[in-house]
Amino acid sequence: AAVIVAIDGPAGTGKSSTSKAVAAKLGLGYLDTGAQYRAITWWMLNNGIDVDDAIAVADAAAKPVIVSGTDPAAPTITVDGLDAAGPIRTQEVTAAVSAVSAVPEVRALITDLQRSIAAEAPEGIVVEGRDIGITVLPDADLKIFLTASPEARAARRSGELKGKEAQATDLAATREALIKRDAADSGRKTSPLAKADDAVEVDTTELTLEQVIECVVTLIEG
Ligand code: C5P
Repeated sequence: AAVIVAIDGPAGTGKSSTSKAVAAKLGLGYLDTGAQYRAITWWMLNNGIDVDDAIAVADAAAKPVIVSGTDPAAPTITVDGLDAAGPIRTQEVTAAVSAVSAVPEVRALITDLQRSIAAEAPEGIVVEGRDIGITVLPDADLKIFLTASPEARAARRSGELKGKEAQATDLAATREALIKRDAADSGRKTSPLAKADDAVEVDTTELTLEQVIECVVTLIEG
């Protein structure tokens, strides 16, 4: 039977790197749900929608067509047929994504999309996000909740951003932005970032990426 793995946690805990590597090792699909929320946010910004106007965001939410490719070796994301992989990582999108993803209509649409992608994965899939274990796939075979200290998360995130963005990636500013985004994601009314009761918590602060991957693979293989 297809194996469904949910990996949740705040930004900078290694969710994406871990999920992709685990999926590749085990021959499973991979879905980055944060990329989908970023993609809808990118579309809102491109179409002049005020992201702080929840009614305007809700009214437009069904317009963009978001398609995710689930090969862990080469994940893709398009919006209305346009490659969105680069533009969804800009600071403009990162700063706006928590507001857009807090709109219930947006979450309902993206959640449906995620469930259908998971249902169609032949061997199974690793789905990473914030609300996968509790809301999107509550019947997942394994739920992981990754955590790390704010310092470790900021250091990883600014390492990732280096070279990719023209903007200065000051460590203190990265740390502030991460903390602000986590607070918004944890504090929203619909499907906040939270650990499911039956999730296994893994603190990655002192672990290498290889150790985290090994840990998750061992948990899946039981
Ligand atoms: O994972 P990433 O940092 O790219 O996620 C971007 C944003 O998308 C998060 O800060 C959060 O606002 C939103 N998100 C969400 N639910 C998910 C995944 C991401 O609300 N399952």
